[in-house]
Amino acid sequence: MSMAVDSPARERGADSPPPPLPSLIGCDREEFARLCEELGEKPFRARQLWHWVYGRGAASFEAMTTLAKEARARLAARWGLARPQAAEERLSADGTRKWLFRFPDGELIETVHIPAEERGTLCMSSQVGCTLTCSFCHTGTQRLVRNLVAGEIVGQLMAARDALGEWAQPSRERRITNIVMMGMGEPLYNFENVAKALRIIMDPEGLSISKRRITLSTAGVVPMMARCGEELGVNLAVSLHAVRDELRDVLVPLNRKYPIAELLAACRAYPGIHNARRITFEYVMLKGVNDSAADARELVRLLKGIPAKTNLIPFNPWPGAPYECSSPDAVRRFAGIVNAGGLSAPVRTPRGQDILAACGQLRTASVRLRRSKGSISRGSLGVAPSPTVA
Ligand code: SAH
Repeated sequence: MSMAVDSPARERGADSPPPPLPSLIGCDREEFARLCEELGEKPFRARQLWHWVYGRGAASFEAMTTLAKEARARLAARWGLARPQAAEERLSADGTRKWLFRFPDGELIETVHIPAEERGTLCMSSQVGCTLTCSFCHTGTQRLVRNLVAGEIVGQLMAARDALGEWAQPSRERRITNIVMMGMGEPLYNFENVAKALRIIMDPEGLSISKRRITLSTAGVVPMMARCGEELGVNLAVSLHAVRDELRDVLVPLNRKYPIAELLAACRAYPGIHNARRITFEYVMLKGVNDSAADARELVRLLKGIPAKTNLIPFNPWPGAPYECSSPDAVRRFAGIVNAGGLSAPVRTPRGQDILAACGQLRTASVRLRRSKGSISRGSLGVAPSPTVA
């Protein structure tokens, strides 16, 4: 994985402010225990601290009133509680909210909140940019790539909870009930950090979002799929997008490494799949490329025997994109065949279109920011799970 090469942080020069204290956000239970030991605190203090940080979202040590004043001061001298900074926040007419978050090194990612009737989904990023170069995804054309560390992943959720003002609310009233790792990046190419972050997020005494409400989307990093199921037990979504290797090699170049047959074998073996917890197969609808009736029939055939559902994603165009979105008729016909084959095939309606909260445009955003060092008017990722239109 290549690292950031020209981040703005390096351009700031010698008179820049001192680097922030390391953040406790992203530290796990073990690290909390070690830290309390170092400070000479009893082990139960680690649990209290955990609850303040992840359960209540305390933004300062001063607020942690069950800890002795002196302990709070010692913590504050060495640690921070900083979340990523929202460089921009935009709200769509349909309620979708999009944050552009900036990390201390100047790198940017986006996070999207998609409210629905019975739930609210936060679409989180796992990397700055992406190495996969899927030909229909704008993020894949972004030059700069680095992994996010666990704190930068957990921090997206915490900053979103801050912004929605929902720390004090009982969990049933919260607007973030579900998480999808479907933003920028390939989460299974950053597995250690993603796994650490998700374990923190799933902890029932902290952020407490159950694995049943978390979905990780992968383009098909076959060797990492079993670990994802075994160690995290989250729902899996697979970006399939094509039913023949020749086409998938072009749309999702990772297919050259892990072709369809190997990918589907890994899906069949995904730990813990059964009919109540199916694998979601994402399929972007590209006009004249992968949207024929024959493609739909082949999709049904390929997925036979796998507890599966499909998600048909209308292609979100971006400047210079070599594809167009399938016509509504083609999408309906495709969904009809897949449905008739016994698979649920909802069509995801892009949400937040007025604020361009659609897949694959983030590169535009970061490039513009770099050029102008001003605010950003375009860009995002993420599509909303939504009822079928078929
Ligand atoms: N790397 C992971 C996570 C990204 S998820 C993965 O590939 O699954 C984002 C989803 O949006 C993926 O299914 C991706 O293929 C899809 N996507 C990317 N660009 C898109 C576009 N322009 N229109 C519609 N869907 C797109």
